[in-house]
Amino acid sequence: MALLVQKFGGTSVGTTERIEAVADKVCRFRKEGHDIVVVVSAMSGETNRLIGLAQNIMEEPTPREMDVLVSTGEQVTIALLSMALQKRGCEARSYTGSQVRILTDSTHTKARIRQIDEQRMREDLTAGRVVVVAGFQGTDEHGNITTLGRGGSDTTAVALAAALKADECQIYTDVDGVYTTDPRVVDSARRLDQITFEEMIEMASLGSKVLQIRSVEFAGKYNVPLRVLSSFQDGGGTLITFEDESVMEQPVVSGIAFNRDEAKLTISGVPDTPGSALNILKPISDANIEVDMIVQNVGADNHTDFTFTVHRSDYKRAKEVLDQVARDLGAREEVSGDNKIAKVSIVGVGMRSHAGVATTMFEALSREGINIQMISTSEIKISVVIAEKYLELAVRALHSAFELGEPDAEGQ
Ligand code: ADP
Ligand code: ASP
Ligand code: MG
Repeated sequence: MALLVQKFGGTSVGTTERIEAVADKVCRFRKEGHDIVVVVSAMSGETNRLIGLAQNIMEEPTPREMDVLVSTGEQVTIALLSMALQKRGCEARSYTGSQVRILTDSTHTKARIRQIDEQRMREDLTAGRVVVVAGFQGTDEHGNITTLGRGGSDTTAVALAAALKADECQIYTDVDGVYTTDPRVVDSARRLDQITFEEMIEMASLGSKVLQIRSVEFAGKYNVPLRVLSSFQDGGGTLITFEDESVMEQPVVSGIAFNRDEAKLTISGVPDTPGSALNILKPISDANIEVDMIVQNVGADNHTDFTFTVHRSDYKRAKEVLDQVARDLGAREEVSGDNKIAKVSIVGVGMRSHAGVATTMFEALSREGINIQMISTSEIKISVVIAEKYLELAVRALHSAFELGEPDAEGQ
């Protein structure tokens, strides 16, 4: 019999009826003799509702109080699910993150897990109880409540699975696995039976929110078998694997990820001297703003242009910082910006051994009349920045160009 960590996301516990359905499922596994630790998210919409309440009071609440507030969502679901399990004669106990002693650093709203004391969970499991743990939250060394960033319950589940050396970490959600792209955007998207950790990390970091990126990194680092499955229907879902040598022919492109949360800033006509990139980007990083893609033009006339992207929520602040930089550096032109852009990426380990992938991508976008504003590549991905209004068209065009869909759906 196996030790399983099963995580149920917001939609899967969105109503008391759904919580009862989750309890039915967990009881079935328990009756088969498995030891079960369940991790749950807040009921769908609850975390956003709580953030909204805080913003009614002040625009930028202190991160410590935000964590005290948003961690309450998960506390509701652990209690309700434990009740539903007990009603079915399935012994269960709920625990908040601090009760399990999920110790994190003190970076409120995006804390990292440092240590987990699995002793208490083991005692419950030995006594035949299902352990129900609140996702997304922990406590720092001073006893302050912390949270792990949006989507962080995935990371709680993987971290518990690693600490307990579980046989599998199962992420139950509202889709039945990882698809070639978001099935809500492309009807013909196809479920993958397997995807490598490397690809999943890229997909997650480039915008596929089906798994929080940290959860995938954590699972890769600690060798946790990780699977994404549907809460609502049976099936094997998608297994995240280490690169499988037995697969003779990898598809060149495995998936398409996209991200709307992007904004672009350009500083033009700055003197092209050693240290100019540093002079431009250091004030941005000092303001705690993360930079994603960076492009510097080849200088002409001893001057150059510099463009980079930031998270859309940082756009206004980044523009203010950059305006000051432009004044300090004596830039010849005004800073310009655009916060209606999106990033589309193709991902695949097969790209390592294939030429011509970029050409296929650029051809597909050009056929649709979509202008590419920025490009960045790595060994297993190509990302482009385009106008946000063309995002869905671009994703569909690329999905079809790389023949990722169900053959019937795309007429192949
Ligand atoms: P949960 O609340 O269970 O954590 P999320 O909303 O965080 O669920 O993640 C599931 C969602 O991820 C799906 O509803 C789907 O729209 C989205 N998604 C984005 N990209 C993909 C992909 N490649 N495969 C599957 N789902 C994806
Ligand atoms: N409830 C948190 C969120 O909405 C964490 C999670 O669902 O994983 O981001
Ligand atoms: Mg999620």
